[in-house]
Amino acid sequence: MTDLHLSRLSYASTITEAYSPMEIGNILEDCRTNNPPLDVTGMLFLGNGYFFQCLEGPRSHINKLYMDIYSDARHKDVQILELKEINIRYFSEWSMKYVRSTHVADTVLKETGMRSFNPYELDGYTLNLLLEAFRNHQEHDEPHQAEKGKSSFWGMFKK
Ligand code: FAD
Repeated sequence: MTDLHLSRLSYASTITEAYSPMEIGNILEDCRTNNPPLDVTGMLFLGNGYFFQCLEGPRSHINKLYMDIYSDARHKDVQILELKEINIRYFSEWSMKYVRSTHVADTVLKETGMRSFNPYELDGYTLNLLLEAFRNHQEHDEPHQAEKGKSSFWGMFKK
């Protein structure tokens, strides 16, 4: 199926009992393996027991991947926040940029008057502010993230 419609999908979800902190490594490994062949890039944030993820890529691939992610038992109440056609990706360099720092989200939320991170409450404006902040944010130890074309990501977990 040909698909020229580059799209960005952002969703919120809530962790379940099937999720434990060590699962994030497994999820990022899946991203690193599965997303590049689908030409999917994006970011993932976990805060306050909520996931916030952005997927960018050909619309048909985003749809398929979202359906797989949707039925994952490690989270529930998966809710699309925004799906739009885009010209430029925010996270073109990342098969999945995992943002661990809660500081980025806190700063944006403070600016917009939101008390604590709850992605279900994001309006379109704040959602895009947040995505821009996550795009610009640099973790101190970025090699731990699922960066496109870099092999050092698993150094941290292999030890
Ligand atoms: P399998 O690993 O065999 O998984 C089979 C099914 O079991 C999966 O569909 C999943 O629902 C479930 N599952 C897997 N591991 C566990 C576990 N430890 N506990 C409970 N259920 C489990 N995958 C990507 O490829 N790209 C992404 O961008 C991506 N983002 C994700 C974001 C979140 C918040 C979560 C929770 C998962 C994400 N995943 C992502 C993982 C995705 O849901 C699938 O697990 C993954 O694609 C592998 O699925 P699979 O069917 O190939 O294989």
